[in-house]
Amino acid sequence: MQLREKLRILADAAKYDASCSSSGGKKRDSVQSKGIGSNEGTGICHSYTPDGRCVSLLKILLTNQCLYDCAFCINRRSSNVPRAKFTVEELVQLTLDFYKRNYIEGLFLSSGIVKSHDETMEEMTRVAKSLREDHKFAGYIHLKLIAGASPELIAEAGRYADRVSVNVELPREDTLQSLAPEKRGDIIRKSMATFPVDVNTAERELLLRVPGLGVKSIDKIIAARRHRTLGLEDIARLTRSLDKCRPFLIARDWRPALSLTDDANLRAKLAPAAQQLDLFG
Ligand code: SF4
Repeated sequence: MQLREKLRILADAAKYDASCSSSGGKKRDSVQSKGIGSNEGTGICHSYTPDGRCVSLLKILLTNQCLYDCAFCINRRSSNVPRAKFTVEELVQLTLDFYKRNYIEGLFLSSGIVKSHDETMEEMTRVAKSLREDHKFAGYIHLKLIAGASPELIAEAGRYADRVSVNVELPREDTLQSLAPEKRGDIIRKSMATFPVDVNTAERELLLRVPGLGVKSIDKIIAARRHRTLGLEDIARLTRSLDKCRPFLIARDWRPALSLTDDANLRAKLAPAAQQLDLFG
């Protein structure tokens, strides 16, 4: 199958992943009309970065083949839509080509599930890894995690992506059962659990990812928890920035509400307040 045909099928299949209102527009080109401007109708969507900028993304599926048969999904295995699958190399090249032409500032990559959760997640991660490491791509990358993939693969995806997210599909277990009975809510939720981490049991590497915890504080925490189960007061004594790390930690007497780490304003709550610079100094 030609790359352009794959692009048509897999960008179209991705438009149902609700993340943007501008995907699915018609392609227009001013070369023939001698007018001005053109747009690449296939697969461009928009998202907001943490600093509030709106960026254009190539929104695409690795594949629309899928082992599952979720009743609400155009890509379910019983659907008779045309199927396609990119190779990792094709997707990397496509992203670079779109980027160099100024069509996009980044990539939004999702996928149906082929062969296995791990194999699909691994291929998606290889796209991000190759962009970052082989091509020093500094653009934005959003990966849709494959719920059920191994924690190591999910952690690796997080190392290369600016943002990862999971489709919860349906909010209630009974509706999930009736429309997507092959899916399990607990497995979907588990793939979202990198935070909060338990300060009394988490490995050093995981604690190093907690905002506000530095190497020295973590060494003190690990030494102290050998002797007792740490509470919030202990952490306050062992770190300098309890306010910053508290939303990401579980301690003997503390468990953050889910809404804390889910809060869209989390950055604003934790980042230092903006200061007016002296314009005339
Ligand atoms: S697993 Fe995802 S892609 Fe596959 S049928 Fe269900 S919703 Fe669609």
